[in-house]
Amino acid sequence: MPDRYDVRAEKITTESSDSKSFIFTPIDNDEGLYDYLPGQFFMLEAKISRPETIVYDKESKQMVPSGPDIEVVEKKAYSVVSSPTQKGHIELIIKSEQGVFAPYLLDQIQEGDKCTLIGPTGKFMKEIFEQNSKYIACWSAGSGIPSTLSLMQYCLDNELDTKVVAFDSNKTQADIIYHEKIKDMVSKSDNFKAVFTATREPLNKLPKSKSDIKYKSGRFWTDENTLEKYTDDRGILAKLLSKKTNWQDYYNTICGSSSFINGKGRDKAGKMAKLGEGVEDHLLKFNCSPSNIDKDQYYLQ
Ligand SMILES: Cc1cc2nc3c(=O)[nH]c(=O)nc-3n(C[C@H](O)[C@H](O)[C@H](O)COP(=O)(O)OP(=O)(O)OC[C@H]3O[C@@H](n4cnc5c(N)ncnc54)[C@H](O)[C@@H]3O)c2cc1C
Repeated sequence: MPDRYDVRAEKITTESSDSKSFIFTPIDNDEGLYDYLPGQFFMLEAKISRPETIVYDKESKQMVPSGPDIEVVEKKAYSVVSSPTQKGHIELIIKSEQGVFAPYLLDQIQEGDKCTLIGPTGKFMKEIFEQNSKYIACWSAGSGIPSTLSLMQYCLDNELDTKVVAFDSNKTQADIIYHEKIKDMVSKSDNFKAVFTATREPLNKLPKSKSDIKYKSGRFWTDENTLEKYTDDRGILAKLLSKKTNWQDYYNTICGSSSFINGKGRDKAGKMAKLGEGVEDHLLKFNCSPSNIDKDQYYLQ
């Protein structure tokens, strides 16, 4: 049974137009609170006020609220941003998807307010620790970045020689959650790299790429094998002498919506369907072993 922890929202920071980070500190008992590994999550339980009825409208593809506001206690899952090596607090990032919980929580929870964390739990990234993987490609879209940051911090604090490449996809540069934090993390270790892609912003509007922080425009995999391009560290001579690249050694974690992971979503009739290709499809196409892929689906579409 996961434990329940009463926590206080110690610090709330706006990270993008639709997301905020929350530093939660335990109010009393913290036994077991930090017994998690990067990739795991907590259920965040909070009292919010919201319209009595909120239903999804297939035509407008939006949630439509109606009726008077009522108070409800609701809980949703949020992956941990902080590393278990950082005792004293739990950091979460919450992004609004225009649903029934996150937008109201983001509007209503203030610094000093009490919430409850239930957990920690989850198996995402578990294999990394069980297999002692040394090469990790973390694929994220939007709010899917927490586990990548937790893993990087964990590697730093434990002085692990694990190579981590963060592939982070967002609509525009302004949508990148924790942009500065990711860059700062990469600057702390030669083992870390970040590749940001903006799917709806041209390259000339993005910062200049450097050796360890790259920017690209469009979706990952549109032109070539993204993983090979950004992980093959061999010099030119080694590349000329052998065809072998090291990218297939990478263990891949993919986190975000179903469309980012495997292109699945609801079709016009509301049925589950394969609507496009996701990161997993591209990895498999380039002969990545399914046993080197782990997925954490936050929500559908
Ligand atoms: C393990 C795990 C970890 C997670 N970690 C994070 C995290 O770190 N940060 C984060 O921000 N989120 C995370 N999430 C997602 C989070 O739990 C919530 O799902 C998210 O905050 C949205 O909740 P909501 O109630 O506000 O939205 P919901 O009401 O659940 O709506 C979500 C989306 O689905 C759409 N939708 C709702 N009903 C339908 C329908 N019938 N047909 C089609 N579309 C529909 C809505 O329009 C909306 O866009 C995680 C999820 C999981 C499972």
